[in-house]
Amino acid sequence: MAHIIDGKAIARTIRSEVAEQVRLIVNRNQRKPGLNLLLVGEDSASNIYVRNKSKDCEQVGIASVVQRLPADVTEEQVLDIIEQWNADKNVDGILVQLPLPRHIDEHRVIRTIDPLKDVDGFHPISAGNLMIGIDGFIPCTPAGVLELLKRSNIDPSGMHAVVVGRSNIVGKPLSMLLAQKRPQGNATVTICHTGTKDLIEYTRSADLLVAAIGRAQAITREHVKEGAVVIDVGINRIPTPSGDAMVGDVDYASVFDVVSAITPVPGGVGPMTRAMLLTNTLRAYHGLQK
Ligand code: NDP
Repeated sequence: MAHIIDGKAIARTIRSEVAEQVRLIVNRNQRKPGLNLLLVGEDSASNIYVRNKSKDCEQVGIASVVQRLPADVTEEQVLDIIEQWNADKNVDGILVQLPLPRHIDEHRVIRTIDPLKDVDGFHPISAGNLMIGIDGFIPCTPAGVLELLKRSNIDPSGMHAVVVGRSNIVGKPLSMLLAQKRPQGNATVTICHTGTKDLIEYTRSADLLVAAIGRAQAITREHVKEGAVVIDVGINRIPTPSGDAMVGDVDYASVFDVVSAITPVPGGVGPMTRAMLLTNTLRAYHGLQK
């Protein structure tokens, strides 16, 4: 029977730690940390994400401002707002909800964010810092996975970690972090993707298996080694007779008896991603010094 890594509970603990930090700041009569969020267009999933992020801020005492813009806003107008926020001392973190409408160059927008306010960790400077092992902003999902492992006393050092997925926001940065010679790293890392021949051969040799694929229940019992730690990043909706259900990239029921620890979906990595945005905002407030 696997140990269920309870991301919801760990995220709750992190939120209360952030709330305590903010309370100490306010008690010293200092300005609250502030996060500004930009949402362009009417995408309903993006709307929910932004609302939740803003609600999380409110809950821990971080001041959040949501700027909503119509889908036909120009790229220059978006860049102007970011420049204003870059210059605003009350704004510690800037988050642009992705994806943006096709006529707006996402990379240009991200590059315009002050790297010291880049709480999503998507700026090329943040990516570069991560690559060479300098403290900077780590994208929230990989940061959340490392924090889950740390708080579950799972040390990747010496493990064979197999990360399935090589996206810029999850697979690639997480692989890099797990390979680094530092706490929560020092693993031997294999990155798998659609070009991988015989995926099972790799996943079955994983002590730590991370699925960041975006394919519902693609990782099944035959993919996992007995005693492996499985981190399921995936969020997929599948139809069931009683309506849509949210499932991960791992077939949870089929691997549960084989693995030593596993994150559920929902309630695993998802809540941690949200919690790490709060810790990144607090770090931005402190100028990355904490
Ligand atoms: P992307 O679609 O950007 O990347 C998916 C990766 O998986 C790609 O590298 C792709 O390979 C690889 N892949 C796809 N199919 C296969 C396959 N059959 N075998 C091997 N590799 C495969 O997704 P994201 O990284 O953005 O997200 C991954 C999942 O995580 C999604 O379900 C997403 O919803 C979820 N997610 C969850 C978050 C959370 O907070 N829990 C946050 C962010 C994402 P290739 O590069 O060759 O195309």
